[in-house]
Amino acid sequence: MEILHTVHEVRQWARRQRAAGRAIHFVPTMGYFHEGHLSLMRRAREDEGAVIVSIFVNPLQFGAGEDFDRYPRDFERDRQMAHSVGVEAIFYPDVAEMYPSGYQTEVRVKELSKPLCGRSRPGHFEGVATVVLKLFNIVTPDRAYFGMKDYQQLRIIQQLVRDMNLPTEIVPCPIVREPDGLAMSSRNVYLTPEERAAATVLYRSLQWAQAQVAAGERDALKIREGVYQQIAAEPRARIDYVEVVDADTLLPVERIERPTLVAVAAFFGAARLIDNCLVSG
Ligand code: AMP
Repeated sequence: MEILHTVHEVRQWARRQRAAGRAIHFVPTMGYFHEGHLSLMRRAREDEGAVIVSIFVNPLQFGAGEDFDRYPRDFERDRQMAHSVGVEAIFYPDVAEMYPSGYQTEVRVKELSKPLCGRSRPGHFEGVATVVLKLFNIVTPDRAYFGMKDYQQLRIIQQLVRDMNLPTEIVPCPIVREPDGLAMSSRNVYLTPEERAAATVLYRSLQWAQAQVAAGERDALKIREGVYQQIAAEPRARIDYVEVVDADTLLPVERIERPTLVAVAAFFGAARLIDNCLVSG
């Protein structure tokens, strides 16, 4: 497996793959791998071609007072895990390689960045869209794999690809969960054992929502209220938002008639966790 630190090295690697007639499949990450990340890499491996992963904790997508400095990092562990699932190259740039002095440009996907996490994390999705566009320009992937855990991010990248005519196919991948339902996240390491147990309320509330819709409930407000009350009843949870939105536009809906996203964000101690599920009327 090759470890590439510079844009130049990645371009050379990509050129070699193309010369060998191989497609390039790309999994962008911030590292500190768990099964969610590995599921994306395994999915990429199923497609014919070379798999490259990036590990870059992108300062542009962290707000002031957020966890950029203490975000968990362990390159050696990540390297071994990526190797074990057949990844062929890791792009592991430092901040100066991605944002050299004098860097100025940012990309904004206007409407999709406003609701949900965009409201509580101003500038976050501009940071995401910017780094993904840069990474796509560097890696030139045929396909890129994104987890549905970060559903709003996925929608923003799909829109970015469409709006900017990028030649990359976006492959959405299902949420990977712990046995008790908690969505896997690098940020789960922030949780104390008590908070870790409390955090399972997110998935339980989403399962309740799914069951309600399956049983015929179409009133989005009732679903939202039910999910909200269940999370609010957990003393260790501090709700950021509970929303029932159109799965394409991410705007609130009154009736569940089309594909709809139930999305939640809540703080458990120092950790801000997100989760979601798709329901359909
Ligand atoms: P991150 O390193 O947290 O930026 O995540 C890198 C990629 O892994 C993103 O596309 C995430 O959506 C995806 N991902 C993170 N957690 C999970 C999970 N539990 N299940 C599926 N994909 C995930």
